[in-house]
Amino acid sequence: MRPGAVQASKYGPNLCRNDRLVAGGRMGELSTEELDFLRSQKIAASGVFDATGMRKPEYASAMKEAGLSFAFGTTPCGNGGHTLRTRHGHCIQCNTAVIAYQLRHHKPGHVYLAGSAASGLLKIGTTADVGTRAWQLCNWRYGGASDWEMLLASHVENAGSVEFAAQDKLRDRATAGEYWREGRRQSCYELFRCSYDEARDAVLSAVPANTRTEERDLARARSLWA
Ligand SMILES: [Zn+2]
Repeated sequence: MRPGAVQASKYGPNLCRNDRLVAGGRMGELSTEELDFLRSQKIAASGVFDATGMRKPEYASAMKEAGLSFAFGTTPCGNGGHTLRTRHGHCIQCNTAVIAYQLRHHKPGHVYLAGSAASGLLKIGTTADVGTRAWQLCNWRYGGASDWEMLLASHVENAGSVEFAAQDKLRDRATAGEYWREGRRQSCYELFRCSYDEARDAVLSAVPANTRTEERDLARARSLWA
């Protein structure tokens, strides 16, 4: 973190608000209670799809395409008014057993650390294809930035749980953002304001021993995200 910088709160200044894009977009936010629930279940908030204003067939197919298991902002469940559901529409707060079932199907993948020098933001996420991810983030104007670059990537067997562990270590550095995807505004929860070393340590301490990690340019990254 830069000396003198003010730490952004979880719902702090909206970093990627773009008035040109905001018009007409419907977007939800995870509540504090939902964020606490996700953390208790070791689910990375970044892996939760914003289904606000979407009908079940719509979010089900969008989630399948994105490879995401859980959604928020769905129609409240009959029991407790919860809106966190599986892609198939099951309330995960009423029945946490469905979470383990969904997570078993998570595939191996790459946990990565990407950065935007212009905004100073870092992002931890998972992807099956490291080669195209930075381009996608720029295309989506993720967190309001369009200069995302891939800085580090580790191939792991259980990408979802490694991603959660890495993000959880940086919880105090998290900042909320938005992006734009297929005509809809989406919230994003895996953006961080911290030094490259802090984010790097969070990822490397979350991956199992003997994991193969590729890193682009340590010295340069340290100077850009100081
Ligand atoms: Zn429920």
